[in-house]
Amino acid sequence: MSLTDTIIIGAGPYGSSLAAHLRAAGMDYQILGEPMGAWRNLMPPGMLLRSEAFASSLHAPRSGFTVEDYCRLKGLPYRPLGMALPLETFVEYGLWFQSNLVGEIQPVDVLALRRVGDQFKLSLSDGRSLAARKVVVALGLKGFAQTPPALRGLPEQYVTHSELYGNLEWARGKDIAIVGGGQSALGLSALLNELGARAHVLMRESSVVWHERPQGGRHILSRIKGPDAGLGRGWRSLFLSEFPGVFHMLDPKRRKQIMEHTYGASGAWWLHDRVVGKVQISHRTEVRSAAIENDRVVLNVLTDGKQARVSADHVIAATGFKTDMRQHAFLSKDLADAISNQGGMPDLTSHYETRVRGLYVVGPACAHSFGPVMRFVYGTKHASPTVARHIVGSLKAGARQRAWPIAHAPMPERSGE
Ligand SMILES: Cc1cc2nc3c(=O)[nH]c(=O)nc-3n(C[C@H](O)[C@H](O)[C@H](O)COP(=O)(O)OP(=O)(O)OC[C@H]3O[C@@H](n4cnc5c(N)ncnc54)[C@H](O)[C@@H]3O)c2cc1C
Repeated sequence: MSLTDTIIIGAGPYGSSLAAHLRAAGMDYQILGEPMGAWRNLMPPGMLLRSEAFASSLHAPRSGFTVEDYCRLKGLPYRPLGMALPLETFVEYGLWFQSNLVGEIQPVDVLALRRVGDQFKLSLSDGRSLAARKVVVALGLKGFAQTPPALRGLPEQYVTHSELYGNLEWARGKDIAIVGGGQSALGLSALLNELGARAHVLMRESSVVWHERPQGGRHILSRIKGPDAGLGRGWRSLFLSEFPGVFHMLDPKRRKQIMEHTYGASGAWWLHDRVVGKVQISHRTEVRSAAIENDRVVLNVLTDGKQARVSADHVIAATGFKTDMRQHAFLSKDLADAISNQGGMPDLTSHYETRVRGLYVVGPACAHSFGPVMRFVYGTKHASPTVARHIVGSLKAGARQRAWPIAHAPMPERSGE
């Protein structure tokens, strides 16, 4: 079994940006996973990106590879702010980035990852095994879908999580209840409505928080008052977008508090006119239980404290994600336990290394350590150079150590000839 210096598990924005940095540094690495797999398979065609175009680039080690560069090359319209980027353009951009900067990506799944001595052993879905000195987990939101207890255990034919879309054609002409009040729920409701399904959004919130349409060319005073940042407008956003390293230094309680109280459920500006007046929304509504009756899902809900029943052909839980590394079936139990805190979140150093030396985590799974920017592609600009620098440094130090016993071994006695 050949030994690779670094294996990256996952070929989305985070894995690809890191691979580009390692490649530029001349390092030996392999990257596994379906190129832009989550974006190609799990997001609905016709979806628009929530992040602004200027904040949707993968991070390259040199200039010339942003969304803007891609749009210019292909003659596509581009505005940094106030232009909703279509999913299809973003996927094509990501694949173009990969073909230029990442090199070969092996479209295989990792089935098992173990630590053996000072190496990692990986078993792959194509039957091969690999060994590596360093492993980076870049699996996005995979495995972290959160479904409310009332909806758990019902057959997939009737209840699914929003993480699974995908093409929505199956829903044409059907009654679809969507539980949740954020971007996923509102975005799905617009797409379903436009497709000819009857969408009904059930949300706990008493109103929808809509983002304002950002405008370029603002007056300097307005920009000083509320600068445009990767995660949105304002100084708080600027801090969270640009200083994940400072966020990492905060007390864990403070970090938790910030995570819980910033960027709550909300809808992108371009969704407003596609949802308001077109999609049925029940506010202050909570699902208490669910059952299947006559081939339909019947939800018992509490709306404004009053009980009611909502019936649908299918229910989509657009109820978010919660990081729990123990949900990654390919991690051996001892490895998952070793890298996670009690809640299942990875404990990370300032260079994204877990408590198991040589094992790193990047992307949404490290948001509790580095802040909400890690839930977005924008965070690749922080994670990729930091992890690449650390890997390069520690592999070089390791190589020096391995060479040390030879270089500094006592010289053999000269023979007397
Ligand atoms: C509906 C929706 C809309 C979103 N919109 C935006 C947006 O507008 N802007 C934004 O910045 N963020 C958005 N996000 C968040 C976005 O998903 C993440 O920011 C980003 O995709 C994380 O990138 P990643 O590289 O960590 O993982 P992903 O892009 O999720 O990639 C995961 C990779 O892991 C691979 N993989 C999975 N399992 C295995 C395995 N066992 N072995 C090997 N490889 C495996 C997959 O094939 C894939 O290559 C959205 C998320 C959702 C769900």
